[in-house]
Amino acid sequence: RAKDRGKNNFQFYSAYMSQHAAKMLALESSLRRALEREELVLYYQGKVETRTGRITGVESLVRWQHPELGLLCPDQFIPLAEETGLIVPLSKWVLRQACMQICAWQRENLPPLTVAVNLSARQFTEDYLLEDTAQTLRELGMDPTLLELEITESMMMHNPERTIQILQGLKAMGIRIAIDDFGIGYSSLSHLRQFPIDIIKIDRSFIQDVPGDPADEAITEAIIAMGKSLKITVVAEGVEKIEQLQFLSDRSCEEIQGYFFSRPLPAEEFTKLLWKNLAPVAIVKKRPVAKQ
Ligand code: C2E
Ligand code: MG
Ligand code: MG
Ligand code: MG
Repeated sequence: RAKDRGKNNFQFYSAYMSQHAAKMLALESSLRRALEREELVLYYQGKVETRTGRITGVESLVRWQHPELGLLCPDQFIPLAEETGLIVPLSKWVLRQACMQICAWQRENLPPLTVAVNLSARQFTEDYLLEDTAQTLRELGMDPTLLELEITESMMMHNPERTIQILQGLKAMGIRIAIDDFGIGYSSLSHLRQFPIDIIKIDRSFIQDVPGDPADEAITEAIIAMGKSLKITVVAEGVEKIEQLQFLSDRSCEEIQGYFFSRPLPAEEFTKLLWKNLAPVAIVKKRPVAKQ
């Protein structure tokens, strides 16, 4: 009977919920320990100048070296960190670690590199963001113009007035601002103009089927053209194949990021890549695009 089935469903549901809750609780306490035991690791992926093949900067991408579960990706623990508030100490650690790494590369006399740090929604609206960031830069004696902070469209649109305020504060310090995963959110182009943005990163879902998919090609071209006229640097994310690189190079997309050039790597491995990149090779040559 329906009534019994309902009851069974409820039992099943609550069993599932308590199992889920128990799992979350266990993860929360192990993430808390992970922060204390320094089980978090930063990986780095290069951002490459399309024209020259030169690495201009890196994006820091956090990983959790879990003692039992192995290497965990951000999608497996960032949402939990946001829910529990652990995102606050986690983000402080990430920012500091990323900046320390940039300073370490500077001491090795490598060419100056920018470092991009992903901000979480929760961190972005907190008052301590400006102060904390300023303090970290000051303590490390790092040039603020080498730091880029990545935010998403949804973070910007949640409270545009407040966003403009925060971004202006960061800009005043010399920090550069990037919009991550651009194109999948709901920010209108007229909105975009109001924000002090330095960099747009085209979401990899548009790059995936380029060249080939006419709609994705058109969107990609439009974002590149818009970046040019607004004097915003455009970076294409998720470049995996030479055909994608050629398409982007032909349309003068300034920078690319993706597996084609390098996967995210631990600092030590990335250092080797940096030394090799002192004599970069341009992989494709720009070709004129026929106008229809
Ligand atoms: P994101 O900022 O858009 O970073 C790019 C993601 O795409 C990374 O995934 C990277 O490994 C992946 N990727 C790069 N090139 C390619 C490619 O050619 N093909 C494909 N299929 N994927 C590529 P990852 O490292 O798993 O990070 C996922 C997301 O987690 C990031 O997306 C970012 O939003 C977030 N995240 C990473 N590190 C942090 C952090 O320190 N703090 C916060 N709040 N979020 C972070
Ligand atoms: Mg990012
Ligand atoms: Mg992205
Ligand atoms: Mg993202």
